Amino acid sequence: MHDLTARDILDKLVSFPTVSSESNLALVDWVEDYLAAHGVRATRVYNDAGTKANLYANIGPELEGGVVLSGHTDVVPVEGQAWDSDPFTVVEKDGRLYGRGTCDMKGFDAIALAAVPRALKAGLKRPLQIALSYDEEVGCLGAPRMIAEMARALPRAAAAIIGEPSGMKVVNGHKGGIGIETHLRGHEVHSSLMHTGVSAVMEAAKLVDWANRMNAENMASERDPIDALFDPPWTTCHVGTIHGGSADNITARDCRFVMGFRCIPGESVEGWRQRYLAEVARLEAEMQAVHPDARIDTAIRFHVPGLKPELDGAAEELARRLSGDNATHVVSYATEAGQFQEGGYSAVIIGPGNIAQAHQPNEWLSLRQFEAGIGFVDKLIDHLSREQM
Ligand SMILES: [Zn+2]
Repeated sequence: MHDLTARDILDKLVSFPTVSSESNLALVDWVEDYLAAHGVRATRVYNDAGTKANLYANIGPELEGGVVLSGHTDVVPVEGQAWDSDPFTVVEKDGRLYGRGTCDMKGFDAIALAAVPRALKAGLKRPLQIALSYDEEVGCLGAPRMIAEMARALPRAAAAIIGEPSGMKVVNGHKGGIGIETHLRGHEVHSSLMHTGVSAVMEAAKLVDWANRMNAENMASERDPIDALFDPPWTTCHVGTIHGGSADNITARDCRFVMGFRCIPGESVEGWRQRYLAEVARLEAEMQAVHPDARIDTAIRFHVPGLKPELDGAAEELARRLSGDNATHVVSYATEAGQFQEGGYSAVIIGPGNIAQAHQPNEWLSLRQFEAGIGFVDKLIDHLSREQM
């Protein structure tokens, strides 16, 4: 069998409509067979329902000091988007590869997989590890269990490279995020007697206003130099939609919204979760003082740690050396890089394509960026084939 090119593999990966709401197992089957054809054994880490899986593999010697190439297999939906061609077929036109996921981020997945036969022939001194996740697009839900298992089962890699589209620039930081579903239950009475009821809508407004106050405080607070790299350089709290109430003259029984936080790396996502829940508990006690049935339920929608720029980080240093990019970049979108870092890996983001093309109709990746990505991984294999870092 001749080795598949990165382009061959990209065509194949895009042909699996692995929208986050659907199973990714057909894609995982294909990747597993591909790796097996090269004598590489892959390990699956399933979701609880067994409908989706992460996949990881170690290529080369089972030694510490290798490098993880990390990508996600899921893509965002195409419904309601005006595409000029079939989103699940790669179309090459004017130096661009069109198709859902070409940019975010099956292009990088394909590059990593195409490198496997080259890595095997190169006689690696330290391993190349490949990590492919599910459910990244819906809150980085899949990767943590894979990272935990890799950390346990494989020799520890010196660096994790997360190939999200960065225009092949070295990105060493991103904000963390958490979304907390909040459901207030009030007590319905006619609004003429509102002092005997609890309006879930009016109580929810207090939490929304708490977010307004936090934003104002955060904006005014002093910040350290790392946080100053972000735009904006403070933690933001946001409510995008709110649903509640049944009539203009009834105190609302229900009100629901998601409180979303984007946290600068200097502040912990967990810390903001606790602050918010303390405010929720305080308000709930107030509501229950009026009527014992009133309450507030919360549930975590997603929880993604930030990527904190590392001081002399191994991953960043390696990515700079291989790419020649010596500037500092941070991004505002969350990725699995923060999860690798939280799992004890030195982590950095560098991958082909521009995030502006991600999630769009007629999503594309330029051939130029695709080739730059291939060149980067070629250099990585050279690096891993030499004696020491
Ligand atoms: Zn992505």
